[in-house]
Amino acid sequence: MQFVSETETDSDSSSHGVLIDSTGDVVIKPCTEAEIDFYEKTLQLHRDFAAHMPTYMGQVRTKDDSNNDHHHAAVSSTPGTTLPSTALETETAIVLENLAAGFVRPNILDIKLGARLWADDAPLEKRARLDAVAASTTSGSLGFRVAGMRVWRGRPAGAVESEGRTDPEAGYQIYDRTYGRNFNTVTVKTAFDEFFLPADYACDIRARRHVVEKCVRELGELQEKLEKMECRMYSASILCVYEGDNSALDAAIREERFPGRLDSDEESSEPEVPKVATLKLIDFAHAKWTPGFGPDENLLQGVRSVHRILEDLLASSNTNG
Ligand code: ADP
Ligand code: MN
Repeated sequence: MQFVSETETDSDSSSHGVLIDSTGDVVIKPCTEAEIDFYEKTLQLHRDFAAHMPTYMGQVRTKDDSNNDHHHAAVSSTPGTTLPSTALETETAIVLENLAAGFVRPNILDIKLGARLWADDAPLEKRARLDAVAASTTSGSLGFRVAGMRVWRGRPAGAVESEGRTDPEAGYQIYDRTYGRNFNTVTVKTAFDEFFLPADYACDIRARRHVVEKCVRELGELQEKLEKMECRMYSASILCVYEGDNSALDAAIREERFPGRLDSDEESSEPEVPKVATLKLIDFAHAKWTPGFGPDENLLQGVRSVHRILEDLLASSNTNG
């Protein structure tokens, strides 16, 4: 998505995008052999770690259609649209579970991990450029930075359909990649406050605490596993998605507490279970399993920092309300 796009600075130039299929259930991401390899090796050798990644559904060969307009598509989680993403000279793509699927109003946070953002094969110029970005952002100090986010704030009063159609993206506030570059170790908590408890948008603080608790739990499990695994991931991200629609969130929390009580009028063969939140690692373009080399401390620094900030957020929201 645009809000997480590091395309102009951290990646090679853009011509393709991450595509969402017409059902909205999967995304198709143009990728390198290295990323395919990482997904396939994970399934072969580290199956329990796959739970912390989007479900991998296989690879496809895409036609190199450089004249298309994919990268101009609007920021969207809407089926049938394309999200700007890194340009690759490749014709290979992977099909992944769309982590935003199943949410009524997905709020999405992309956190780019690592103080070092380049892999061993990166040219000197790229290393220097990414080191400079890290040095001037929380990437360098905390091992992560907010790469982008998008938060549902509700449709503004008076915003109505134009030409019989409502823009599905209206009502989201988009924070682009520059947003997360201006924080320091102290101010970065603002981004998490804005994400989980957006200002000027009425929401139930207890429901939002429930969301953060769930994210902390998932992140803690991820951290525990990473401490035992031997891999190197550069410029991977945590993608955190939660339900931004208040009543859908309420329903999802109730469903967690009392499963199977959903009032289902329609005789849907596959009833959609409402979701509270999900937190996964994404973007394995520069990731590999490295047996014998020990845990990825570069990645772990960022994971631990985010974990601590979320725990602080829980602690402070407890005292305040
Ligand atoms: P790159 O940064 O190399 O373009 P990413 O894997 O980071 O590739 O994907 C680009 C963006 O597309 C992500 O920041 C995220 O917003 C979106 N995206 C990627 N994978 C998924 C997924 N499985 N589900 C939902 N959104 C995704
Ligand atoms: Mn990315």
